[in-house]
Amino acid sequence: MNHKLDLLDNAMDSLEEALKKFQEGDEGDQKAYKFCVLHMAHFIELIFKHHITEKHPLLIYANPFAPKIDPATAKTIGLWEAVNFINNEDKDAVAGDFRKDLEWLKRLRNDIEHHKFEMDVATARITIGRLFRSVLEFLDYYGAVDIEKRIPEETNAIFKVLSDEYQFKLHDALKKADKVEEENPGDPMDPEADPVRLECEACGNDTMVVNKDSGTGYRCTFCENEDGDDLPASCSCCGARMTAGDLETWHDEDTGVEYRCYYCTGRYAADRDRD
Ligand SMILES: [Zn+2]
Ligand SMILES: [Zn+2]
Repeated sequence: MNHKLDLLDNAMDSLEEALKKFQEGDEGDQKAYKFCVLHMAHFIELIFKHHITEKHPLLIYANPFAPKIDPATAKTIGLWEAVNFINNEDKDAVAGDFRKDLEWLKRLRNDIEHHKFEMDVATARITIGRLFRSVLEFLDYYGAVDIEKRIPEETNAIFKVLSDEYQFKLHDALKKADKVEEENPGDPMDPEADPVRLECEACGNDTMVVNKDSGTGYRCTFCENEDGDDLPASCSCCGARMTAGDLETWHDEDTGVEYRCYYCTGRYAADRDRD
């Protein structure tokens, strides 16, 4: 019997399920995160065991020194025995946030299994993403297995989101911007209406959306930038609508900072008189 192959295949099956559930959660099914947690915990346990059995197949057993080992009944190691082995071999291989996130996962899995399930979805998403990246880094560092090559086509997109911090943040920012756009349908008959969503001039993503709390009326859901030359703005003096890039910052002694158009800065008159 070949534990090695079984472990890796089963680990990949669990990961595949975890990715599918994460995607379902992403698409609005909050309950799916619960199953994502369970599958992800299973994946990590199996992939750690796989890593250890690469050293020696008998290390899968809690007591490899027993006089006789019956594969059908012998007790195998659990996640924390695997973690201990890994740390005994290479101090602090599983430490810091990696370890804390694993403990979080273990608690959550325990709660789910005992039906005491309550989870803050936003925190769960971020923690699952961070933990998954830690596992990938671990596997990459120890050359244990190239996960990415084994990801089937259909979950490749969500794998990329989960495995890359930038993609993960961008994915969430785009979703937030989609939501703002949905909530502000605007008037399609009004060609003069201000755009709800623009490209952010700071980060280059399609994530600049209207925001009541922003001084410019816009904020990027990715980098939180609030400025841009293309943003609609009006002249503090005459109220003419144009883009922020067309306005000049004007320091007025009475009213403080103003944004004035070409005419209201007096520049038009000056240019005209010069000609
Ligand atoms: Zn931005
Ligand atoms: Zn003006």
